[in-house]
Amino acid sequence: MDEKLEAVYDEVVRRNAGEPEFHQAVREVFTSIGPFLSKHPELRRKKIIQRICEPERQIIFRVPWQADDGEVHINRGFRVEFNSALGPYKGGLRFHPSVYLGTVKFLGFEQTFKNALTNLPIGGGKGGSDFDPKGRSDDEVMRFCQSFMTELYRHLGEYTDVPAGDIGVGSREIGYLFGQYKRITNRYESGVLTGKGTDWGGALVRKEATGYGTAYFLEEMLRANGTSIDGRMCVVSGSGNVAIYAIEKIEQLGGRVVACSDSAGVVYDADGIDIDLLKQVKEVERQRISAYADARPDAVHKAAASIWDIPCQIAVPCATQNELSGRDARTLVGNGCLAVAEGANMPCSPDAVRVLTSDGVLFAPGKAANAGGVATSALEMQQNASRDRWTFEYTEARLAEIMQRTHAACSEAAAEYGAEGDYVAGANIAAFQRVASAMDAFGLV
Ligand code: NAP
Repeated sequence: MDEKLEAVYDEVVRRNAGEPEFHQAVREVFTSIGPFLSKHPELRRKKIIQRICEPERQIIFRVPWQADDGEVHINRGFRVEFNSALGPYKGGLRFHPSVYLGTVKFLGFEQTFKNALTNLPIGGGKGGSDFDPKGRSDDEVMRFCQSFMTELYRHLGEYTDVPAGDIGVGSREIGYLFGQYKRITNRYESGVLTGKGTDWGGALVRKEATGYGTAYFLEEMLRANGTSIDGRMCVVSGSGNVAIYAIEKIEQLGGRVVACSDSAGVVYDADGIDIDLLKQVKEVERQRISAYADARPDAVHKAAASIWDIPCQIAVPCATQNELSGRDARTLVGNGCLAVAEGANMPCSPDAVRVLTSDGVLFAPGKAANAGGVATSALEMQQNASRDRWTFEYTEARLAEIMQRTHAACSEAAAEYGAEGDYVAGANIAAFQRVASAMDAFGLV
């Protein structure tokens, strides 16, 4: 990072104390954009960099709700409307006990760049709550979602801010949120939330999109380097929405996924993960991953294990931020791993990224590799706006094409700014260029 950016970064840290994930996300972008800024000194003068790091609006609110046993609970709700230079704020809601303002800011910042990479008209935002849906009944989740939306609705709109799901927010939660929005506003405004059920305005392929898109990006990256997923031994962390569909597409492309996980353990299945069984355990029965091993005698479950210790040629972290450490990266390198694609947001620690890239492992950063989810959300908005409904095949073809273009944008930007093959630099430069140029066009707003 150059000296001037270092000074801006120090200021970001000072103004956003106690938010290490946000600092990490900002630092990662700053380490890449120096060469671009050298060609565009006017962006420094206009303080576009400082402006890009300051969310346009941050909303924090109280979410009171009542449990089935009558006890009253108070959670905190967040929506960070980060940047609307390229379109309405767009980004998911996360319900998880670890959520605080710093999580939402880091995710909103990342989202702004990711959305720019899709080259679709969407700005960046993110939201959520420290509410934990695990172990809660459907009625409790509904009451929570209704209370959350009772405050949030006033900030939303299909041309203003369009949330979606993320960790802990799936189609059940989106249904309750949309129901409450519709009730309060008396408007069937489909385009105000994405990830809706396919019977009521949701896009086909949205559920699969992030995982599929990650596999498509991975395949493009391997193809550009003269190889492919076919026949490769793969490990995918997590077993939520992104992980399940990354596994499905990797298997369709000929890869063999031998392990996945959840926060309570790792499953190893030498024959390859049985995707139908995994969906049954996780999507239908909502059980722990250990239930997969209970149903497959040859599969092994380990409670206290790192999935990255399992030898593989391709690693796809799809669980959560900073889940793959420098130590894990060294293990992957030692085991002959040739590519890592981030399905989750920022799952590799900065140390891990350094180890992987300096040891020649192909590395696809999440803001590019997992952009397929939000891209398909934008396709859902297109269908809602035109009162149309596309087929699965057509929508998947659009997704595949968007991932190919995203890959091309990253690799071309990297090559243009002297960092050939560096997808981190390429993604950051290509995205920054798009957001900064729109901000510049709008003047000082
Ligand atoms: P999800 O459906 O809630 O699944 C998350 C998975 O990760 C679960 O299996 C969870 O296990 C596991 N997990 C969480 N913390 C873990 C830990 N510390 N160690 C091991 N496993 C852990 O969420 P998701 O939608 O798949 O999102 C996963 C990641 O992708 C997040 O970083 C999210 O921001 C990112 N992302 C999602 C989308 C999307 O469209 N869904 C789009 C772009 C990026 P438990 O069930 O035990 O908690």
